[in-house]
Amino acid sequence: MERCRRHMTDSPGCDFCGAAQETILHALRDCPAAAQIWYRLVRHHMRSWFFSLQLLDWVLKNVKWRGAGLRDDWSCYFGVTVWRLWSWRYGRLFKGSDGGAMARVRDIETFVDKVHQSTVHEKQMGKRS
Ligand SMILES: [Zn+2]
Repeated sequence: MERCRRHMTDSPGCDFCGAAQETILHALRDCPAAAQIWYRLVRHHMRSWFFSLQLLDWVLKNVKWRGAGLRDDWSCYFGVTVWRLWSWRYGRLFKGSDGGAMARVRDIETFVDKVHQSTVHEKQMGKRS
């Protein structure tokens, strides 16, 4: 919708699934291209809650709350997943690249591991100084 408003495209719709409006929440959560990733990460009994929130609540509650995901450190997984979904979506849109859902989940896990390693390294460096 924002690209349409800025005259970067003629249609406000989603190029991935054909939805009439590609809102931020559609791009990052509700589009089937994004939802298939979230289904692999969000606990089954939390999905109706996860997919029902409005954008601001969705971001704030997932950043603050640790119980939604299948993984420990959900806020880190959430942040990395949103970032990677945005990158993949617009990377594909502008460059034509794509990958399968499992490869994308592995990519998210790799980035979360890097964040954890960086955090451990910073803590170790802090103890030495
Ligand atoms: Zn879509």
